[in-house]
Amino acid sequence: MSEFLSKNHAGLAAYVPGEQPTGMEYIKLNTNESPYPPPPSVLTAVTKETLGKLRLYPNPDGTELIKKLAGTYGVRAENIIIGNGSDELLAFAFLAFCDKTRGVAFPDLTYGFYPVYAQLYGIPYEEIPLRDDFTVNFTKYMELGKNIVIANPNAPTGIALPLFEIQIICQSNPGHIVLIDEAYVDFGAESAVSLIGKHENLIVMHTFSKSRSMAGARMAYAIASAPIIEDLNKMKYSFNPYNVNRLTQIMAEAALGDESYFAEKRREIIATRSYTAAKLGGLGFEMTDSKANFIFARHPEISGLDLYTKLKEKGILIRHWDKPRIKDYVRITIGTKDQMDALIVAVEQILFSKY
Ligand SMILES: *Cc1c(COP(=O)(O)O)cnc(C)c1O
Repeated sequence: MSEFLSKNHAGLAAYVPGEQPTGMEYIKLNTNESPYPPPPSVLTAVTKETLGKLRLYPNPDGTELIKKLAGTYGVRAENIIIGNGSDELLAFAFLAFCDKTRGVAFPDLTYGFYPVYAQLYGIPYEEIPLRDDFTVNFTKYMELGKNIVIANPNAPTGIALPLFEIQIICQSNPGHIVLIDEAYVDFGAESAVSLIGKHENLIVMHTFSKSRSMAGARMAYAIASAPIIEDLNKMKYSFNPYNVNRLTQIMAEAALGDESYFAEKRREIIATRSYTAAKLGGLGFEMTDSKANFIFARHPEISGLDLYTKLKEKGILIRHWDKPRIKDYVRITIGTKDQMDALIVAVEQILFSKY
């Protein structure tokens, strides 16, 4: 820390991303990326002509891309904002709707960025405990008098809320924002996009990072009522109007033109998740009912840290958190079937190494 850092940020604990190794080849099951490349339409979308146009700023409004997204999700263009990953859109939402007197609530176990944004902006926040089975207790969010952020399915548990619970949360907090972060919704949960238009206070956030195989492009969007989108745009145009670069806009448009590839890869991930869960179950693991592209599991005979460390020695990266309620658990991203077979062999070797 330099002597110049604002006192406001002296105590800030920044977000810690999962490892992104550059050297040795790992089987990378630690940051919920897709094991598949983007659709062929994306691989050929950026032409030499496009690259020549890099001298020009991108369209700050993302007009064409937003038109395509609106068509895909059955909403109007005025209901959508695009961002440089959902991390950026989350930052805009915290900035726009929260302050010292308008706090925010989210589950005690959820995406690690929410408390970081609250701290960064000096927003009071409440971490509402998940039930013992790690489900979100929606009754604790009723008439809360705070803005609410819920990842659905939640991370790192993968457990999804049914839509009617989200509806009740929206209805019982008419004076506050309810932000549903649907980073993993395409892997088997119900989307709240269908509730847009019914609830003026609802924001639904999607990303291209997980189900659309484009984490490296940094592209996400939020869907909400027009006045909310206007407020989010006010933040964007006060911060970084050109937040989604020219190449990413073109690649994202191309991705939306290939919905069959998108559906096929989602089906493959879901099938591989069931396959892996059955194998791990057979080895004595306990798991949550994950509707995401990862499995959240623990084994009675090995600690989460131990499993993480030993798998890393074998060239497989997974994720572990040293947090009281979940330190026995690990989160394993669903890769290809071959990658999961390699994981299962490695886990067997670790579990039975004493024999
Ligand atoms: C991965 C993830 C994000 C971040 O997505 P980006 O679009 O890559 O910034 C946001 N929320 C949750 C719950 C995530 O898991």
